Amino acid sequence: MPQRWDESNSPNVAVALLLSVVVPVYNEKDGLQEFYDRTKRVLLGMAGLEHEIIFVDDGSSDASADIIAQFVRQDVRVRLLKLSRNFGHQIAITAGIDAARGDAVVVIDADLQDPPEVIVRFIEKWQEGYDVVYGMRETRDGETVLKVWTASIFYRILKSLVSLDIPVDVGDFRLMSRRVVEHLKAMQERDRFVRGLVSWIGFRQIGLLYRREKRYAGETKYPYRKMIRFALDGITSFSSIPLKMATIMGYLTSLIAFAYACSVIVQKFMGYTVQGWATIMVGLLFLGGVQLICLGILGEYIGRIFNETKGRPLYIVDCETPSDRSRWGTPDQSRRGSFSKDSIQHRPATD
Ligand code: UDP
Ligand code: MG
Repeated sequence: MPQRWDESNSPNVAVALLLSVVVPVYNEKDGLQEFYDRTKRVLLGMAGLEHEIIFVDDGSSDASADIIAQFVRQDVRVRLLKLSRNFGHQIAITAGIDAARGDAVVVIDADLQDPPEVIVRFIEKWQEGYDVVYGMRETRDGETVLKVWTASIFYRILKSLVSLDIPVDVGDFRLMSRRVVEHLKAMQERDRFVRGLVSWIGFRQIGLLYRREKRYAGETKYPYRKMIRFALDGITSFSSIPLKMATIMGYLTSLIAFAYACSVIVQKFMGYTVQGWATIMVGLLFLGGVQLICLGILGEYIGRIFNETKGRPLYIVDCETPSDRSRWGTPDQSRRGSFSKDSIQHRPATD
């Protein structure tokens, strides 16, 4: 068994590669034990690869943090990062990635919708030299037709508005190499759309199809209100086309108004004047509507600029267990000795 890299301070001792598994958790008490057992089984099955599991408790109001604290007590490879309140899924992921020290980082939901077993396939692709391996949802079990449908429309709108190639039907379930993580950490923008940021970074990326399973327990933490906000974040962080659309709409309506004005003048000279209340009302409402849409679009962007300029930290950590980070050592490539990605072998674990 390769040595853990925190157990030695000698520069000459070979140390295994480390995989960090980042898990955002918001009120998931009923599924955590099953998640931990299944994930642990997968991680123990990979010889030559050390692991740490970082649970980010995103302000849960149930017993999630206590359950994770129990894992921390019984397993030195588990860490708990407790945020001071609920900051949202994307920020929770960011906090976990910031704290991760692995040579590769996997982000996975705590509800077992992303099967931990897929991590083995991620690792294989990473060994082949890919920097990002993301899961593509082949099927979505147990999600409402409306959710699947709205998600699919959103991804397609996003694709048509954004020049960057953000793959469709892909969530945040993915593996990232250390260099991708470092670049991601340098991106401190607020209204985060992490999967878009990772696409933006580039390097060698590949998608793997997987079956998205039913939630093991509890309910989705993404009500439609949050989904719409998330969709807007995705679009406004990567595209200014809506702003251009506002301008185009402005030009189009001006053009129509001009043509109509011409026809009104002609009619006046021909002595054909109608008391057109209906026409005026329709024109008024239409123009008013277009103007409000344009103002709204401007507002979306200005609101985000306002948020950025405040320069607040992205999140606040309440506490971290174990609190002593030195117990975990610091990543140092020169200490990696003879271990490389080639030394990782998958041997299915037996119970
Ligand atoms: N989550 C979080 N903070 C939130 C909402 C969700 O950390 O404000 C976590 C949640 O516990 C889960 C993951 O993010 O592990 C995905 O959330 P969820 O399953 O509710 O989203 P869905 O899969 O329905 O899109
Ligand atoms: Mg889920």
